[in-house]
Amino acid sequence: MADFKVTQLQTGLDFENLAHWDVVIIGAGPAGLAASLTTAHRALTTLVIEAKDRPGGQPQFLYADKRIVDIPGFPDGITGDDLSQRTYRQALDALVQFRFNEELVTIEDTEERATEEPLKRVVTTKGSYLCRKVIIACGLLHYPRRLAVLDQLQSKNVHYKIPKIGDYEGNRVAVVGGGDSALDAALMVQARGGQVDLLVREPTPIGKPDSLAHIHEAGGHVLTSTEITAARFAGDEIELDLTSGKVLRCSWVVVQIGFLSAKETFERLALVLNEDGSIAVDPYFETSRQGIFAVGDVHGDIKLIAVAWAEGIQAAIHAFKEITSPYWLNEKRLKDHKIALIGEKIARAASKVRPT
Ligand SMILES: Cc1cc2nc3c(=O)[nH]c(=O)nc-3n(C[C@H](O)[C@H](O)[C@H](O)COP(=O)(O)OP(=O)(O)OC[C@H]3O[C@@H](n4cnc5c(N)ncnc54)[C@H](O)[C@@H]3O)c2cc1C
Repeated sequence: MADFKVTQLQTGLDFENLAHWDVVIIGAGPAGLAASLTTAHRALTTLVIEAKDRPGGQPQFLYADKRIVDIPGFPDGITGDDLSQRTYRQALDALVQFRFNEELVTIEDTEERATEEPLKRVVTTKGSYLCRKVIIACGLLHYPRRLAVLDQLQSKNVHYKIPKIGDYEGNRVAVVGGGDSALDAALMVQARGGQVDLLVREPTPIGKPDSLAHIHEAGGHVLTSTEITAARFAGDEIELDLTSGKVLRCSWVVVQIGFLSAKETFERLALVLNEDGSIAVDPYFETSRQGIFAVGDVHGDIKLIAVAWAEGIQAAIHAFKEITSPYWLNEKRLKDHKIALIGEKIARAASKVRPT
């Protein structure tokens, strides 16, 4: 069955006084925004809880003015800021409701029901919301890994996200890390006239080879198998001791060495996790707890905006289908014995509905 029919929510709905929400989504990044559009476009009342004061997720908070070039349909690229604003506006137009500066605390099972379905209660730092389905799209929580050796300087010239600086002309900038984020940071510094020393702990940077080639072409120095052992001020500059014995002077240090996992929050939600601490999901993006889906960076190997969108959309459609046709009535899912997780869930559900 085609899934592209858009049924708008009725205007004039009293969102403040709903008995329950159809769907609550945690996180207003690419995955959460795409999921929210999709559920609202199927006339499901949709609430998005966002910890920060604005929507957009990583493209908004980590690289607002980077030109993203790998989004299909934008041959000239689009900035993280523009992309976030457009998707948010689309969600607002679809009557998605947002709560900002509010964080997920836990998700409780309740005895309350909508038709036969037990409702969940999403507890946040500011309140609680009854709902039928939950979609977790809270990304990596944006706690960048920090380096103690640099933190002790307490310098405003040490950054853990790509700083919004108009011009680095003539400045030497040490960029720490070898993944795509670090390579992006290096390219951005170079585009603004800065001179880059890329400090990579591994013998080879793991980021995209073409980005690395551009860094080399623009005169960047790439120091592999290198870590910072000590840091101190030298006048207005920062002096770094490297494991190679070299001493590097720079005006700025940008650290991009990954993010801390949101494992603690996920454990509090009593979800089955993968070995790397990400949330385990089945092919329907449902977690080990029935009615709770997880999409985007919280579980995936491929961390891209388009992938987060696609997962958000798929989870939203599966949530919609479960609301309109619960999985125990859904033959395709019922027959899908190849998928162990679902098999287990059906067995559990079947034992609950078996007459005593
Ligand atoms: C430097 C950098 C450059 C990148 N460049 C590209 C690129 O060019 N192209 C590309 O396709 N991808 C790129 N990516 C990857 C892309 O940004 C991510 O894959 C994408 O943002 C994942 O979307 P998400 O919605 O899953 O998570 P996020 O974007 O992380 O959004 C999650 C949202 O959830 C909120 N949240 C977190 N915890 C809670 C909580 N407890 N309660 C409520 N809200 C919460 C967060 O504040 C955030 O707004 C880049 C990533 C980085 C770091």
